[in-house]
Amino acid sequence: MKTQEVVNDLKRRFPNEPEYLQAVTEVLESIEDVYNEHPEFEKANLIERLCISDRIFTFRVTWVDDKGKVNVNMGYRIQHSNAIGPYKGGIRYHSSVNLSILKFLAFEQTFKNALTTLPMGGGKGGSDFSPKGKSNAEVMRFCQAFILELWKHIGADTDVPAGDIGVGGREVAYMFGMYKKLQGEFTGVLTGKGIEFGGSLIRPEATGYGNIYFLLEMLKTKGISIKGKKCLVSGSGNVAQYTCDKLIELGAIPVSLSDSDGYIYDPEGITREKLNYVMELKNIERGRIREYAEKYGCKYVAGGRVWAEKGDIALPSATQNEIHGDDAKHLVETGCIAVSEGANMPSTPEAIEVFQKARILYAPGKAANAGGVATSGLEMTQNSIRLSWTSEEVDAKLQQIMKNIHEQCVKYGTQKDGYIDYVKGANVAGFMKVAKAIMAQGVL
Ligand code: NDP
Repeated sequence: MKTQEVVNDLKRRFPNEPEYLQAVTEVLESIEDVYNEHPEFEKANLIERLCISDRIFTFRVTWVDDKGKVNVNMGYRIQHSNAIGPYKGGIRYHSSVNLSILKFLAFEQTFKNALTTLPMGGGKGGSDFSPKGKSNAEVMRFCQAFILELWKHIGADTDVPAGDIGVGGREVAYMFGMYKKLQGEFTGVLTGKGIEFGGSLIRPEATGYGNIYFLLEMLKTKGISIKGKKCLVSGSGNVAQYTCDKLIELGAIPVSLSDSDGYIYDPEGITREKLNYVMELKNIERGRIREYAEKYGCKYVAGGRVWAEKGDIALPSATQNEIHGDDAKHLVETGCIAVSEGANMPSTPEAIEVFQKARILYAPGKAANAGGVATSGLEMTQNSIRLSWTSEEVDAKLQQIMKNIHEQCVKYGTQKDGYIDYVKGANVAGFMKVAKAIMAQGVL
């Protein structure tokens, strides 16, 4: 394979899909060497079969708001690959959602899911609907309308969606209820469900906790303790909240949070009491992070990004491409020793280059945030065997999975000078598993 030729061809075919091309380019560059050691891959045209999704559903979602107005949104589900298990990946509701973003997420998800060691293929879906500012009844009607279109194509053994940006426990529950009514069956068709109806303990916490478990493994390679480290966290949703939760438990100091309007910087640290306030503010009142600064009298920067501040560790937990090259330079110059991605693809290629050149610890989302989908996999298992595991059992499994992912990254990513290239490690490990499965199953 000549990576540049493949990328150029994809650019020609999908010129308006920058995020998809960015994700594909990163993976192809990482796997080029190992791919070329296997001539049978080239003969089987494995690259094209891996880059192009199995199928993509695009549909209209029509729903009525509280004023009686009929609204129309786009809905999508991308079934990228089921080579190693049913399609699996979240649903995103955000005004920025488009095909390029969902294709990048579905592509990444395929390798991430392979890394978890659980039998899950890759998929993603969503809508340009934004739950922000909508009433509960409006969100419910939208979720029901979305599933009315999608239900025929998903199922516990075919495609199992979950949450992502804009889709938390409330939205998953509404979608699950509608699926159950249409299908006439109570099955584990979605993960991230409420505890009362088949959800797994620790699933809400899993992405944030998993990211910190991965970070601990990285720090261990350098003999560094997390205690007392100042941590820059972006976002203020599910991943950011449980990232802070675990940091506080371990004696680290989260000092920032953000949303799409701006960020807060609290040099004294976000304590457990302040975090409880954030959870109430974001999950129940559905307010803005600016209100934290007003309540606790700390700095708020409208329209800014947390990377302008100084921190020992950076934990991006908001969205894609939120750390630019200049942000990365600033982080490195001001003493940041580790970046571990809770969000998907939050660092631009320029930012990744800066981190890796500076030889700081850098973990891509594909590895570091895989705890979320891994625990979704554990939810699927519990649904299948009709049992519920305790928090301790699920947390222990999550910790073990994050350790395994770290080991795979070390195995495939350690460079001659000893530096661990986690990007390469994660991409090669994920790719080899999916590639072997596709090869074994013949031309489909
Ligand atoms: P939430 O919707 O709970 O929170 C997202 C947060 O990021 C909000 O604070 C939101 O602010 C902010 N945000 C979203 N889009 C933008 C944007 N374009 N610019 C600036 N800020 C933005 O989502 P999650 O916490 O679940 O997801 C966060 C990231 O983690 C995503 O990249 C997601 O793909 C990834 N992830 C999530 C997993 C999960 O289990 N939930 C699993 C693995 C990865 P606002 O409220 O203003 O929109």
